[in-house]
Amino acid sequence: MDDDTEAELAEAQSWAGHPGGSGGGSAGGECSVGGVGVGVDDGAGGGAGGGCAGDDGAAVSTARGGLPMLPTELLTNSRLSAYRRCPALHAMRYEQGYRPRASAPALRFGSLVHLGLEAWWLAKNEGDPLTAMFARLDAAAREPDVQLDPYEIARAHAMLLGYHERWIDVPVEVLAVERRFEAQLVNPETGRASRTFALAGKVDAIARFHDHGGRVYVVEHKTSREDLAPGSPYWRRLRIDSQVSHYHRGAQSLGYDVAGCIYDVLGKPSSAPRLATPVESRKYTKPSKAEPEPRLYAGQRDTDETPGEYQDRILESLAADPARYYQRVEVVRLDADIARHDQDVWAWASAIRDARRTGVHQRSGACFTYGRECEFYEVCTGVGTLDDARFERVENIHPELVESEEHQ
Ligand code: SF4
Repeated sequence: MDDDTEAELAEAQSWAGHPGGSGGGSAGGECSVGGVGVGVDDGAGGGAGGGCAGDDGAAVSTARGGLPMLPTELLTNSRLSAYRRCPALHAMRYEQGYRPRASAPALRFGSLVHLGLEAWWLAKNEGDPLTAMFARLDAAAREPDVQLDPYEIARAHAMLLGYHERWIDVPVEVLAVERRFEAQLVNPETGRASRTFALAGKVDAIARFHDHGGRVYVVEHKTSREDLAPGSPYWRRLRIDSQVSHYHRGAQSLGYDVAGCIYDVLGKPSSAPRLATPVESRKYTKPSKAEPEPRLYAGQRDTDETPGEYQDRILESLAADPARYYQRVEVVRLDADIARHDQDVWAWASAIRDARRTGVHQRSGACFTYGRECEFYEVCTGVGTLDDARFERVENIHPELVESEEHQ
C-alpha cells in the first residue's frame, strides 16, 4: 500500500487530542500526531521530522538503541491481534483506552506462570533458577490483585517445577530476557517508514541453543490446555502466526541474527482438586467380619484435598508423561515469510488509520472467541456503556511493555 500522507493528515485532524490516538503509546498521551511533524514530513526513513511535538528525542534515541526517532504510537502484536479480531474491540481498547477492571482467572494464571519463567530464564546462565523462580512466583501470588485460589497457585508450582526438571540440562546460553524492542514500520512497496506507527513488543527471551547448532532463537513461553502432540493444530497454525513473525522482526531490530522461534509450551493439567463429597451424597460400606468399620465408597471423600496434596498429584501426572506437558518446537521463518508478514502489518496499520479517518470501527461479530464472551459485549449490545464501573480508562494502553526493575 502506498505511503499515505493524506490519510495521516486526516487522521491527525480527526484524532488530535483523542486518547490513544495521540502519541506516547498511552491513552491520553501528551504527544500529538497532529501538526507539523506528521503533515509535512516527506516520510523518508522515519527521520526527525516524523517525531511528535514535545517528544523527548534524546530519551527516545537512547531507549531505542540509537535508531532515528520513531513514531511514538506503538503497534504491538496484542494490539494488532485485537484489531484483527474486531476493529470495534481495538477502538475501545487501544484508541479510547478502556479496559475491564478485573482480568479473567485464566489470564491471571498464565501471567503468574510467566513471571516464574521469567525469573528462571534470568537466572539460567548463572545462579539458581529454581530458587529464583519460586521466589518470584510466591511474591507474585501474595500480591492482592492476583486473586488466585491456593489450588491454582499449587498447580503453577507443580508446572514450574516440572519445567525446571525437563529443561535445566539443555545447553542454552541466555542472551536477553523480557527485552523490549521498538522498530520502524516500513511500507513494503516504497521502503518508507510510517510516521504514525512504530512496531513494538517485548520478547520473552533470546537465547543461543547449543543443541540446535548454536543458533540464536527468540523464545516464546506459553501455557495451554490444547493437545501438544507433534502435528496437532496447535503447532500447524504457528506456520503463519503473526506473533512469531512480529518478534522475529523485533529481535532483528535489537541486532540479533535469529534463526527462528523456539515455542516453549507448558501444558496445563486439567485435573481439578478433589473436594469432599457432599454429606447427603456420601455412601458407606456395610460392616462385615472382614471390615467391621464402615467406610466411604471408593471415589468419595470426607475432606477436601489440600493444596499440597493437589500439587503432589499434579506433579505425578507431569512426571509420568513429560512430553505431553512440556514441548519446545522450532518455528522457522524464511525471509519470504517475514516479507509477507510485513505486507500484512502495513495493511492492518493502514486499515486502522482508515477507520480513524472515517470514524467507522466495524463490529466483527467475533464476540465469543477463545471460549469467552468479549469484554465489551454488553456495550456492543446496548446493555451497558463504557462508563460502567466495571471499566476503567487506562493511562498506558501497553502495560506489557513496562520494564520491570530487573531489566533496567
Ligand atoms: S462484543 Fe463483538 S462486536 Fe463488540 S467489540 Fe467485542 S467482538 Fe467486537
